[in-house]
Amino acid sequence: MAEVQGWGWQRVHHPEYIEQVLVHFQHSIVTGEPWEDIFPLRSASGQYRWFLSRALPIQDPDGHIVRWFGSNTDITEQREAEEALRKREQELAAAIQVKDDFISIAGHELRTPLTSLKTLFQINQRRMRRGEFIDARHMALQERALVRMERLINDLLDAVRADTRQLEVDCTPTDLVPLCEQVAQDQMLASRRTITLDLAPGPVIVLIDSGRMVQVIGNLLSNALKYSPSNTMVSLCLARDGTDVLVQVIDSGAGIAPSALPHIFDRFYRAPDTQVQHGSSVGLGVGLYLARHLVERQGGTLTVQSTLGVGTTFTVRLPGQNHQDVGVD
Ligand code: ADP
Repeated sequence: MAEVQGWGWQRVHHPEYIEQVLVHFQHSIVTGEPWEDIFPLRSASGQYRWFLSRALPIQDPDGHIVRWFGSNTDITEQREAEEALRKREQELAAAIQVKDDFISIAGHELRTPLTSLKTLFQINQRRMRRGEFIDARHMALQERALVRMERLINDLLDAVRADTRQLEVDCTPTDLVPLCEQVAQDQMLASRRTITLDLAPGPVIVLIDSGRMVQVIGNLLSNALKYSPSNTMVSLCLARDGTDVLVQVIDSGAGIAPSALPHIFDRFYRAPDTQVQHGSSVGLGVGLYLARHLVERQGGTLTVQSTLGVGTTFTVRLPGQNHQDVGVD
């Protein structure tokens, strides 16, 4: 390799790039081709900045290179702008992928109850034509499919409203004991499974939007039932913790992988390897996103603890209210 001499230029080069610069320049020395390279150089402040270097060989009449003539341009800002653009494009591509996945999931999820409705409607139509009674079981199944569709559509609309900060909450002092009992009762009826209740003696007063809290606890319970085998226990606990109130939904299901946990409250997120253990519907991945948003809008927090193969606990923490202060009987 011909020796590249100079004014101690290697001192200002980044050590990781010296080899590359030498190889490229060596190539130009040997071939006589113009030289062009991009590399970081240390500035007077000690920080590295990116440069585009170009040089043309000046040759004597015998074709020997006698000197190089070139330029050195600071392209740090340009590179940073390009890098930011590349990142933005990657984020956009990821967002489009999420949206596409979501549309296909939403379409599939809505089609399932719609197909049931259509089939049941056709059966009932035939029965009516023959002058027969409509089967009460069919009516119940139709209602279930309708409720499912209504929930999916409401969740979707709520997710959009939550995203644009337009989700309304109307908080009033509420006793959580009957509220928890009612939500658990509804979920037990829908799933035909038992939920163990461990509720502090009431009243346990919090300032909440009761309809929204029913939605939150209902969602956590239906997840706990959905993602745990039917022979395992799901519990709903209500306890005081100092001046706070805790609502916990505990299951002994498959648990959530540590890699999925940081994303579990993201909109449209569904843990890749989670299998629905009980019940048929997978869901849109908006339930937990909405639940956390709604709890925070009511002044609380929603957190999760989970161990693979052991189970999952979701905890709603709300600031408690002194019921004398808020005038609840
Ligand atoms: P989904 O409608 O898909 O259930 P959620 O937002 O309610 O959407 O939940 C997001 C994801 O979190 C689920 O797809 C599932 O992978 C995981 N998950 C939620 N609750 C539990 C649980 N109790 N046990 C295990 N995984 C859960």
